[in-house]
Amino acid sequence: MLLKKNEIYETEITGMTAEGNGVCRIDGFAVFVPVTAVGDQLKIKIVKVLKNYAFGIIQELLIPGAGRVNPDCPVFRQCGGCTFRHVDYSTELHYKSGFVQDAFDRIGKLHPVFEPILGSPEISHYRNKAQYPVATQNGKLVCGFYAKHSHRVIPYTDCSLHPEIFREILEYLLPALQNAHVSAYEEQSHTGELRHIYLRKGYHSGEIMLCFVTKVSIRKKLNFLAALRKQFPEIISICESVNPAKTNVIMGKTVEVLAGQNFITDTMCGNQIHISPQSFYQVNTAQAERLYSLAKEYAEFQGNELLLDLYCGAGTIGLSMADSVRKLIGVEIIPQAVENARENAQRSQITNAEFYCGDAGMIAGEFARQQLHPDVVILDPPRKGCDSAAIVAVADMQPDKIIMISCNAATCARDAALFSEYGYQIRKAGAVDLFARTSHCEMVLLMSRIVK
Ligand code: SAH
Repeated sequence: MLLKKNEIYETEITGMTAEGNGVCRIDGFAVFVPVTAVGDQLKIKIVKVLKNYAFGIIQELLIPGAGRVNPDCPVFRQCGGCTFRHVDYSTELHYKSGFVQDAFDRIGKLHPVFEPILGSPEISHYRNKAQYPVATQNGKLVCGFYAKHSHRVIPYTDCSLHPEIFREILEYLLPALQNAHVSAYEEQSHTGELRHIYLRKGYHSGEIMLCFVTKVSIRKKLNFLAALRKQFPEIISICESVNPAKTNVIMGKTVEVLAGQNFITDTMCGNQIHISPQSFYQVNTAQAERLYSLAKEYAEFQGNELLLDLYCGAGTIGLSMADSVRKLIGVEIIPQAVENARENAQRSQITNAEFYCGDAGMIAGEFARQQLHPDVVILDPPRKGCDSAAIVAVADMQPDKIIMISCNAATCARDAALFSEYGYQIRKAGAVDLFARTSHCEMVLLMSRIVK
């Protein structure tokens, strides 16, 4: 039987994809249905038929699957931010364990046994960072989020993943910006000024950074910054990043300080951490601390190791382990993050750490040529995973242990499979949920060489 667009079928959701779409099979044909739960019995309407699969939407929910709840967010359906507000958190964690395991089984053809996933004690207000696109609607300056699959701004400042103070700041800012005659950037015509309002808050410190991302500088118009800081003394850094390009990339190439300093400070695993607007910093600090602790536990340091931390960002992971090793070397491509890493070592009186700025693959390759022999290598790449050059160089250095940290099970499984070709086997595998309510999840692997 061929599925037809607009036809209605009665079916049951039997699986969940890593993107958070429920899967059902109609005459063996896979149909993906968003915002469903495993076990849902429902009537679906087919909205798109492709060669090997189709997409459907719920027409009627007949019998809800396990863990279904009423979404507690008024914009859940419009916003692409959260994936799982229609199931409870334990069901979400169950799905996430499944995605991670499945990626390793299918993509990596490796079959590690994952330890039980570590869920987040906080599933609301846990994010320490938000970037709000700005628009003019009905003559008013608004900000919020892009509607799913579009760049239409839906005004909304009350996201329950964000710290509550972000909403208060935005409520102050929007009228102040409007009074100062700041215009919103318009993507279509590439005109206007303010593109995004970017906020970051130190989880432990409470310090806040505000960064205006603009097409052309608005600094001369911002006559209210002193008053804003009086109202919100936590804002210790106000910056502007001018980004004149026609691009989806939010930040511009430069950041100028408008008031206060160009960084905020937080503590992570007991270390003082400087964070610049451009530096990567895990969005869920408390869970990131648990992730790093798990990685440290996996490494079982004896105290005399040379530790190489590739893709180190502001140095947070390596620095959390520096007291347990002889020497730490970190590598990161963003210069400001490297600067942060060096300052962070200094502020925490860590004297056995060095940081290099550059491409992880190239620098690791250079280390390998110099016959550097790190005992433990940590790799924590962005979503696209490691460059194969980095993997080859690491394998060349023959560390005893490799710790892979990743927020993308598919690329992590691919990279672990490549390491396995070089004789490294997964010994331990854990998942830590840093992104409650979304479809993302972090994982950590311990790999070591197969002893022949
Ligand atoms: N380990 C850090 C950062 C992880 S995010 C932490 O836990 O906070 C991944 C980092 O890799 C980012 O800081 C990004 O700037 C950096 N990066 C991306 N591509 C890179 C490359 N080719 N070489 C080195 N670092 C890179």
